[in-house]
Formats: sequence, structure tokens, C-alpha cells
Amino acid sequence: MTGAYTVVERPSPNFDAREPDVPVDILVLHYTGMSSGEAALARLTDIEHQVSAHYIVEEDGRVYQLVDEAHRAWHAGVSYWRGHRNINARSVGIELVNPGHEYGYRPFPEIQMLVLEALALDILSRHPIPSRNVVGHSDVAPTRKEDPGELFDWRSLAAKGIGLWPERAARGSANVMDALSYIGYDTTDYARALAAFQRRFRPSDIHGVADPDTLCWLQGLVEVCDAAR
Ligand SMILES: [Zn+2]
Repeated sequence: MTGAYTVVERPSPNFDAREPDVPVDILVLHYTGMSSGEAALARLTDIEHQVSAHYIVEEDGRVYQLVDEAHRAWHAGVSYWRGHRNINARSVGIELVNPGHEYGYRPFPEIQMLVLEALALDILSRHPIPSRNVVGHSDVAPTRKEDPGELFDWRSLAAKGIGLWPERAARGSANVMDALSYIGYDTTDYARALAAFQRRFRPSDIHGVADPDTLCWLQGLVEVCDAAR
């Protein structure tokens, strides 16, 4: 099985212009959270809903492009990462078809992941997106969003050069707030930010409490971020 893919155009009216001086330096991954891929395509191309993404990847590996990467798609909403608030302005957004927590969350099929990897590598080749800025919707909107969720395999993605994956540090992080802020999270709601971190990097227990194991993973990610600068 390979991640070779073809892109089918399915234009959405839900986009506007990027600002000229803002780099495209973030990649945001989502799940659609709807009953089917077709339902998600309908919603993301409906002018009434005012939402979109640049791409949708179906569970069988089909890829639809809704918005040109040169334009701003409307996928992240109210969001924050590493000091920036308008994440749509500086990101490419990919939606993975999955029913999500509301409609029967399930694993992402291998073919969907392989195609995502190929698509993401192509996007990374076109824009100055550092590894630290490959994120989930839940990372940039931890109080509102859970996607792509705890079943998403960030580790294998990082092994292909897409995003970061930490080693678990031997000693835990000394200051959780500082660590989360440094990684990029909005820590206004500290427990939700920590839960977003757990959902992505230590998904065995997502409770927003700084247990010793979480602190070791947090410290591990800080060290990987240091090295990736
Ligand atoms: Zn999302």
C-alpha cells in the first residue's frame, strides 16, 4: 500500500484572501466529526455554514481540495498557537473523515494515514512550516475542540518527518504552565491545555491533571522543541 493520491477539486465558497505579509507556517489537522464524508463535503462547501478546509481526506484515501492553499480557509475558528491568534491566516487545514467523538469515533484506516502523510509532506515542501507547528485542532483550540483525537497516530506521522514526537524524559517538567506556553498552548484554561497535550502525547489518561507520567512526557516535548528550533 502506498500513499499515492490524486486530488479532486470540490471548490468551497468559504474562503478569503490571506494577508500578504503573513507566512503560511502552521499545518492544522482535524477530523470531520460528521456521519459521513459526503455530509462533511456538503457542509464545508455550503456558503450558509461559513466553514471550510483546504483538503478533505476520505477514509478510503480519496482527496478533495476545497480551497487553494494560496487562500485562507475557515477551519480553525477562535484559536491560538505560539503567540498567534488568527491561525487560519497562517495555516493550511486538512480534514480527515471520521465520525468523531459525537458519531462513533474510530481508528483512522491505514490508507487514509498513508495518503495524509504524502499530502502533508507535499504541503511542507511548499511552505515554511516548522515541525513544532504541525498541530491538531485541539492544540490550537483546547477549550472547544478534541480533534483529531486520541486515536490519531501522531507518533508514526513524526517518524515520517511530519511534526514532533518526544522521548519520555526521566525527570518531569518543573513548571507545567511554562512548559505548555513554551510548546505553544494558550494556558488561559490550564487544565484544558494540559488535557489537549495528554490527548496528543499521552492519551492513556486524558484528565487535565499534572500526574508524574504526564510531567515526564511534557519535559520530553520541551526538549524536542529546544532541539527543533
Ligand atoms: Zn477541527
